[in-house]
Amino acid sequence: MVGQSVIVQVGDDGEGQSETPTVQPLPTVVQSASKRWTIEESEELYRITGWGEPYFSINAAGHITVSPRGDRGGSLDLFELVNALKQRNLGLPLLIRFSDILEDRIERLNAAFNKAIARYNYPGLYRGVFPVKCNQQRHLVESLVRFGKPHQFGLEAGSKPELMIALATLDTPGALLICNGYKDREYIETAILAQRLGQTTIIVLEQLEEVALAIEAGHKLGIKPVLGVRAKLNSKGIGRWGGSAGDRAKFGLTIPEILTAVEQLQAANMLDCLQLLHYHIGSQISDISVIKDAISEASQIYVELVNLGANMRYLDVGGGLGVDYDGSKTNFYASKNYNIQNYANDVVAEVKDVCTARKLPVPTLVSESGRAIAAHQSILVFDVLGTSEVSTGVPAPPQEGENLIIHNLYETFQSINEENYQEAYHDAVQFKERAINAFSLGYASLTERAKAERFYWACCQKILAIARRQEYVPDDLEDLEKIMASIYYINLSVFQSAPDSWAIDQLFPIMPIHRLDEEPTCRATLADLTCDSDGKIAHFIDLRDVKSVLELHALKAGEPYYLGMFLNGAYQEIMGNLHNLFGDTNAVHISLTPEGYRINHVVKGDTMREVLGYVQYDAEDLVESIRQQSEHALQEKRITLEESQLLLGNYERSLSGYTYLTA
Ligand SMILES: *Cc1c(COP(=O)(O)O)cnc(C)c1O
Repeated sequence: MVGQSVIVQVGDDGEGQSETPTVQPLPTVVQSASKRWTIEESEELYRITGWGEPYFSINAAGHITVSPRGDRGGSLDLFELVNALKQRNLGLPLLIRFSDILEDRIERLNAAFNKAIARYNYPGLYRGVFPVKCNQQRHLVESLVRFGKPHQFGLEAGSKPELMIALATLDTPGALLICNGYKDREYIETAILAQRLGQTTIIVLEQLEEVALAIEAGHKLGIKPVLGVRAKLNSKGIGRWGGSAGDRAKFGLTIPEILTAVEQLQAANMLDCLQLLHYHIGSQISDISVIKDAISEASQIYVELVNLGANMRYLDVGGGLGVDYDGSKTNFYASKNYNIQNYANDVVAEVKDVCTARKLPVPTLVSESGRAIAAHQSILVFDVLGTSEVSTGVPAPPQEGENLIIHNLYETFQSINEENYQEAYHDAVQFKERAINAFSLGYASLTERAKAERFYWACCQKILAIARRQEYVPDDLEDLEKIMASIYYINLSVFQSAPDSWAIDQLFPIMPIHRLDEEPTCRATLADLTCDSDGKIAHFIDLRDVKSVLELHALKAGEPYYLGMFLNGAYQEIMGNLHNLFGDTNAVHISLTPEGYRINHVVKGDTMREVLGYVQYDAEDLVESIRQQSEHALQEKRITLEESQLLLGNYERSLSGYTYLTA
């Protein structure tokens, strides 16, 4: 207690008192030093150097710069790009894909393996493949195949529809087409027949039943398939995607099953078809030690398969190469404690050691990195529609005779200082609860309760400002930041555009793309357009762990405020759903040119007509229904002709419009 007792005043319900709230502005929440906020401070705050290098940085104008070729030159101002695209009628939310980043990622991965191969004198090759499931968008897969040509980069299909894409798109001689996932006769036959087209298809057996199917299909077609086995390793990834390995994993063969498969192939005189060992221990492996364990185990299985008589030629280490979403370079789930080079070195060195020790030729190394290739190439840019703040100021001091609780809260507010702020917080909470109790019992009016609550928020704000200046924040005050956060309403559906943020709390770096030379004085969580309380983002990257509020700028009247969500090019697009019928966002493909940039493709987002079609509504029928209702209303003179025309016009125009809010 800060030193006063409380008596609930009974009697005067205060209803008649008119309160003229002379609202005084509070001192700015974040200490606003007299020196100007610098872009370096923004860099540190949003950790852009950690997760953004070498593609994203901040320029002198305080805008985000994209350098799609990394450190090899060429860059553009993201804010200016967004404005230029808006002038071309490409409204927000907008997904911007940078083809050059995709190319750079493929080059980096291949360069890392080639460097490791040279460093360890590995007498074999690296042949990567891109797992189509990570991002199936046609323009992306097509560019990927094109950029991959110099490296004979192939594709991986995890289902029949993905096999359809891969077969029709991959035209790189010698590149691998790895066929994973559940397979039926048609899948296997198609994959085998594709050899006749010049495709290097490798069918990876994931279930014991597939062995018989593959043997049968091979005999029937008179073509020898190239087969692989997916092993269930004992080593497994940890965290979100750790369930992909281990004895009880969904996919792959246990060691006894692998031996059975070998026996079955031998009996069918097809053991020479078995040429690849595959494993996939999960996505986003944060800890290099898990990668090392897996490759040691797999290398041993590989050499054992050679000794059993299989015609082994490939070792496929699957996916799992992580992305440093928070830039912390740690084994935190949103990060990774290694780089691509460390990864390649560990794979190459271990396989070489094991094969050399057994005096066996080394395999061609295959990896199926999806996330590490596709995550960086797209940026989702969206605007803020409005904000809601818990408190806007301090009410006028209470007059004599006003409810005692209000006096108590006012005195608490006045007394808050560096020494007593923690105690004052508990007082404020208690007084506010008493005010609510008094209201429930009929001892305080609505106006009194409102004033009490406003004083309470004013106390919290003052206390928070002090708490932020402290080295150490007492535990009981930690939630204050969350309670006091503003809500920024964003023109986006989290379910459509960042499903993993909603489903598994995945972290993506989010930050303003402009005004980065201004101090962000607000702290906020983000709420999306859906009517779902889960449609929000309240976890943000931080150096340590996760923060629950994001530093943002106060909105300026008449000026848009743009945020970017970065590193979201892997998995998000296809897993996004139509919750509340918010459809695909507009997407553009940009590449750098010597003069600036070029828009390679524009993929317009879904119209309402399209999303309604997904749930079997025919736009014409809908319009017809409105027309009939209007006709009826006209006859009964409930609507004027003009009104009905306006209504129908709006209705029809909406159907062919964007599902998001337009400025
Ligand atoms: C999902 C998947 C991948 C891709 O994993 P990333 O972690 O995105 O690289 C690779 N291989 C298989 C079999 C997969 O299921």
